[in-house]
Amino acid sequence: MAERFETESRKLLGRLRDTLAEDSAGQARLDRIVKLIADSMRTEVCSIYLFRDSETLELCATEGLQAEAVHQTRLRLGEGLVGRTAKSRSVVNTANAPAEKGFRYMPETGEERFSSFCGIPIQRLGDALGVLVVQSRAERQFTPDEVYALEVVAMVIAEMTELGAFVGEGAALSALHQQPVMFRGTIGQEGAVEGQVFLHEPRVVVTNPISDDPETELKRLRDAVETLRVSVDDMLTRTATVSAEQRQVLDAYRMFANSRSWMRRMEADVENGLSAEAAVEKEQSLARTRMNSAADAYLRDRLHDLDDLSNRLLRILTGQGRDTGAEMPDRPVLIARNIGPGELLEYGKKLRGIVLEEGSVGSHAAIVARAWAIPLVIHAGGITTEALNGDPILVDGDQGIVHLRPDDTVTTAFRDKIAMQARAQERYASIRDLPAEDRAGNVVALHMNAGLMADLPSLPTSGAEGVGLFRTELQFLIRNQMPKRAELSALYARVMDAAEGRRVAFRTLDIGSDKVLPYMKPNDEPNPAMGWRAIRVGLDKPGVLRMQLQALLRAANGRPLTIMFPFIAQYDEFRAARAEFDKAIAREKILGHPLPDKIEVGAMLETPSLAFAPNAFFKEVDFLSIGGNDLKQFFFAADRENERVRRRYDTLNVSFLSFLEQIVERCRATGTPVSFCGEDAGRPVEALCLAAIGLRMLSMRPASVGPVKHLIRRVNLDEAREVIHAARDAGEQSVRKAITEWLAKQG
Ligand code: PEP
Ligand code: MG
Repeated sequence: MAERFETESRKLLGRLRDTLAEDSAGQARLDRIVKLIADSMRTEVCSIYLFRDSETLELCATEGLQAEAVHQTRLRLGEGLVGRTAKSRSVVNTANAPAEKGFRYMPETGEERFSSFCGIPIQRLGDALGVLVVQSRAERQFTPDEVYALEVVAMVIAEMTELGAFVGEGAALSALHQQPVMFRGTIGQEGAVEGQVFLHEPRVVVTNPISDDPETELKRLRDAVETLRVSVDDMLTRTATVSAEQRQVLDAYRMFANSRSWMRRMEADVENGLSAEAAVEKEQSLARTRMNSAADAYLRDRLHDLDDLSNRLLRILTGQGRDTGAEMPDRPVLIARNIGPGELLEYGKKLRGIVLEEGSVGSHAAIVARAWAIPLVIHAGGITTEALNGDPILVDGDQGIVHLRPDDTVTTAFRDKIAMQARAQERYASIRDLPAEDRAGNVVALHMNAGLMADLPSLPTSGAEGVGLFRTELQFLIRNQMPKRAELSALYARVMDAAEGRRVAFRTLDIGSDKVLPYMKPNDEPNPAMGWRAIRVGLDKPGVLRMQLQALLRAANGRPLTIMFPFIAQYDEFRAARAEFDKAIAREKILGHPLPDKIEVGAMLETPSLAFAPNAFFKEVDFLSIGGNDLKQFFFAADRENERVRRRYDTLNVSFLSFLEQIVERCRATGTPVSFCGEDAGRPVEALCLAAIGLRMLSMRPASVGPVKHLIRRVNLDEAREVIHAARDAGEQSVRKAITEWLAKQG
């Protein structure tokens, strides 16, 4: 870097700091800043455009353009060179602006007189705030050093914006973090709640972006990086048994922590007048911007690591820990970029709602939130930068919408919705102890799905008759190491105790696909959903399956025991799994342990192949449970995790319903009890159709038992079956329309 510019840049930052330190209103500050930059850069024009809303930029201060244009000139994102800078989030530097593609002449500013243009995005941690522009009459390209100096200034402006430096009288900006903001995300768990923001990781606040003592700042930066390096090395040695994936992350941390170029860039920023914190944040901002646009998943992950590392470094420098001492509000809604199930479990059930910027519907955190029936919205982009601890927030898990600092109208409408849901809950509570019996006397057994001890209290309150699916893998997923047999056995015993004699169908471990155990060597498979998963793992490497079967037998301790094997695709697999169970029983007998007084061994029907298994299979299994989530994805060849194709095929598609009906028929012919336990069982209209075609045992999430029962009690399932058949015979693709119309007439 040219020596002249180093000092220029530092001088400029020094003057900027003095300006910011003055006690003046926001607009006056901005006016002074543009003048100062134009002076220092020896350009005729310097302007600051800030976002009015996510699509509109407004000229908020200028030196050199006509003063009347301030707060008048507005541009859409992508419009003109200023809009292009904002949209591309990258520097636009040109010697001949009028000749540039996209140039837009704005007569009110008189800008046609200026030839060179340099636009710098003003952004903070990936959030676009505006554009800093310099222009000059002379036709010249701004040098890399000049661009660099402007980037540093833009960064300081962004930082000061965050601190509220430009609000107040005649304000260019309305205060940040005070406006109502709506976030549209993805549904993780239904339900509506009102509460206050509780940030999982409060932001580090940098209050001193500019320094006048580079030597001291350099030392602070180097000391902090050294502390960081030691802590990363420490993590690596302490966690000798981590999974390959965790090790990869830690190795990436170490690589960045030792990266010379990362260090050099931050040192250069400090030498140019930024504080150590601001230098770290400048790098972090860059990483965030690249992260948002990186197409390559691996690169995105690494940039993510760099982002995490920068946070650690900022915490070392500022001494601001995760725990800022902020008190948990009365009705806490947890806001986080992402969160692991372990951390979530630590917060416990006091959380009212959860909103994540990342995450996925199948994530373990989502599984925990679902088990607790806490509304969860994922993919709420940018909420961690916008929300402040204690902000009022409304989480609409039914729509995947979050209202932060909502205005009164939104709050009133939302409260009405909550009240309506509460009334519905009361209705469901009033029929809790009644059977799900239709008007013709057909009875449907409603059970619930579970997987955590925390689910069990819902058994008596939901009105479920038992647990139709206990996903045992959840216990494995939320731990950092393989649970021991004694632990599992104690847990299963507690589940049976809590069920107080009601039937619990324990499904043996279903890992693989999206359920990857952190402590097991990951398998790099091209298509894990159709790969080495569930019973396939259990039979090929039977150690864990045997341990689990033994734990179940011991937990039963003489009580009845129901187990089922997941993902059975052919008869042989069931026979082999059953043989393992028989061996486990024999072993327990030899050891003198009490055996269950009644044993039921079932199979999950999750692949179309099993529907065509020989009659002998149907006679041999004690029961079948249809895993509709998997069965549907394989029936339509549509990935259940892929939103794009998942919604394309309706569960009420006549082909799928006919297929299910054939399974029911075969089970009837062989006397095999059959149930359905996919997510569709918990959707009232779907549940009604499943029951109508003969599936008289459904297992669903606890919160669905009430709504499903309520609907079944209102209708005649025999009539519904006729409606389904009529729609099919009429050539409809889905019976949804016919059933909905019929339902509307039921009153
Ligand atoms: C299913 O596939 O429908 C099922 C119940 O199992 P899981 O959702 O756990 O794969
Ligand atoms: Mg399944």
